[in-house]
Amino acid sequence: MTTNPEKISKIYLILSQTYEIFENTDDPWMTNGLSSNPFKSLVSVCLSTMTTTSRVVKACVPLYEKVSTFEELLKLEDEELREIIKPVAHYNRKTKNLKVMAHQIITKFNGEIPSNKKDLLSLQGVGPKVADIMMNFVFDTPSIAVDTHILRLLNRLGIVKTSSAEIAAETINTITPIEFKKHAHEWLIQHGMKVCHARKPKCEECVICNYCSYKTIG
Ligand code: SF4
Repeated sequence: MTTNPEKISKIYLILSQTYEIFENTDDPWMTNGLSSNPFKSLVSVCLSTMTTTSRVVKACVPLYEKVSTFEELLKLEDEELREIIKPVAHYNRKTKNLKVMAHQIITKFNGEIPSNKKDLLSLQGVGPKVADIMMNFVFDTPSIAVDTHILRLLNRLGIVKTSSAEIAAETINTITPIEFKKHAHEWLIQHGMKVCHARKPKCEECVICNYCSYKTIG
């Protein structure tokens, strides 16, 4: 494992010159407005766990035609909510979680999504990844959320050596220079999804292969 600041900075510098930030892309999250306000951001991210983007879009677009506040979400019948979000994985559990979360936000936080990580983590169905995404993208507090793509990439680069996304998030949030922190998640996830594939990484196309101990090319 390396936490060499020079190596980390070099990797971020190259990735920042390679990838656009999300708001400048035609990513389906952007084009479908899945995070166009804090309500949508939180609900979309909660629905996105263990689910592909296209399935999140299939669930969220009709959902946001029906509801735009936590009060409206709470009023929606469980059966109807379950039916709408059926495209996403674990829709039964997510139906219950969304209802409890909406109730918590209304009763404990006066209808406002809490803007600190501790309170976010107290919401039903909100884990560290969702909390970090909310802190970074909604509350403007640079925070790197680690998903499966970023976890794989960080391990291959030798920056972490763990199967725990939570431990990897602690490490990468600690060692990332502040100037790269705001957009680090966006660059890392794009590289993980587009180049450093799980089964067959495209090492021959990789812009940071010189910094990778896992690379499959000479
Ligand atoms: S060299 Fe290969 S394994 Fe390493 S980061 Fe690049 S694509 Fe991934």
